[in-house]
Amino acid sequence: MKVLKFGGTSVGSPARMKNLLDIIDASERQIVVLSAVSGTTNSLVEIGQAYLAGDKNKAGALISALKDKYEIFIKELFAKPEFLAQGKEVIDYHFGLLSNLANDLFTTIEEKIILAQGELLSTTLYHVYLKETGVSSVLLPALDFMKIDEDNEPIVDHITSHLTPLLNTQPDNKLFITQGYICRNAFGEIDNLRRGGSDYTASLIGAGIRSEEVQIWTDIDGMHNNDPRIVSGTKPIAQLSFDEAAELAYFGAKILHPQSVFPAQKYKIPVRLLNTMDPQAKGTLITNDSEKDKIKSIAAKDGITAIKINSSRMLLAYGFLRRVFEVFERYRTSIDMITTSEVAVSLTIDDTTYLKEILAELEVFGAVEVDNDQTIVCVVGDFATENHGFGSRVLEALKHIPIRMISYGGSSHNLSVLVKTEDKVETLRSLHSRLF
Ligand code: ASP
Ligand code: MG
Repeated sequence: MKVLKFGGTSVGSPARMKNLLDIIDASERQIVVLSAVSGTTNSLVEIGQAYLAGDKNKAGALISALKDKYEIFIKELFAKPEFLAQGKEVIDYHFGLLSNLANDLFTTIEEKIILAQGELLSTTLYHVYLKETGVSSVLLPALDFMKIDEDNEPIVDHITSHLTPLLNTQPDNKLFITQGYICRNAFGEIDNLRRGGSDYTASLIGAGIRSEEVQIWTDIDGMHNNDPRIVSGTKPIAQLSFDEAAELAYFGAKILHPQSVFPAQKYKIPVRLLNTMDPQAKGTLITNDSEKDKIKSIAAKDGITAIKINSSRMLLAYGFLRRVFEVFERYRTSIDMITTSEVAVSLTIDDTTYLKEILAELEVFGAVEVDNDQTIVCVVGDFATENHGFGSRVLEALKHIPIRMISYGGSSHNLSVLVKTEDKVETLRSLHSRLF
């Protein structure tokens, strides 16, 4: 059984929603995971924030503006009055719920209920649309089988034990539709897998049911070997290993939610990145195999802050790095890159919420310097120790660019450099022309 996930733009208009049937082969048993219609989750975030701020008027105005869009959407989606009426019932129900949340106490629990309505709307409307076209399908409530634990970690076993019986009760139905992104938390409340989490849902379901393949359908023909918005002549990468894909997804390639690689990797479920606008294109296949002797791709992540701690006195002492890391741990701030010398350590973070507090604590260890507006450029490929020459090719391509940090050898499949964001475009272009 395959799992197919379609993102917000793939269901972003009635026409796009109808086109999904060109891709979905309704005769094959499969699970289709849908995101919310593009733009909807952003609006729901704003509605939640307005409620949290106590501004019911603003929330009301945002809700009715969003509802207007759905009124237009269903008029184009459905051809027959009977199904239009069903579509109307669906939106009245969900928008009624959004409006009624103003009546009682509003907390982050209600906020998460608001965020869940986007995927509930898109899947229910699509289910009604399939009925209108005569395609039989089953709407599976993701809240019945998607669960996260106390640490917000998804529980794959829970999916296996709750989704498998649901599928087994429907031996004759082939097409199952469910919501991306939403889940229940350890308290049984409605929660979500964070923004962009529908990819994660697809991968988790794929792992939970040991699916033969997970397909992530977006608007681009797979993961490209560089950022197509910055560099011309980028090409889709035919094959990536899970590790390479995770690295690229984390360091900038927007096409895939970074965490979504791990469940598929753990259960060895191949993941294919495909393009709804060009369904015949091969896209990118992510599996356990990594190709030898190849540089695969370049990705960049902006908004990085570098912190250097100079401490000739402390650094030689054991336990020093632990104490430095503990500072970041206390402020729940994760570190991306790290380089050390005998007298100093440099590291990078992308979340500066607690930067002031972190710096104050680090100053106890020695002189601290901070560089803002940095970019990590990550080159992914076969950087195994027995391989040689790739490192020098990367650095040769960057000889005219000031480099703040280099990270090599952390894994055998990447070399990352930290440059000023103002040098990013030249860094990406120069690497591209010399490596590919
Ligand atoms: N609708 C959610 C979001 O916009 C999840 C997703 O689309 O992946 O973040
Ligand atoms: Mg997405």
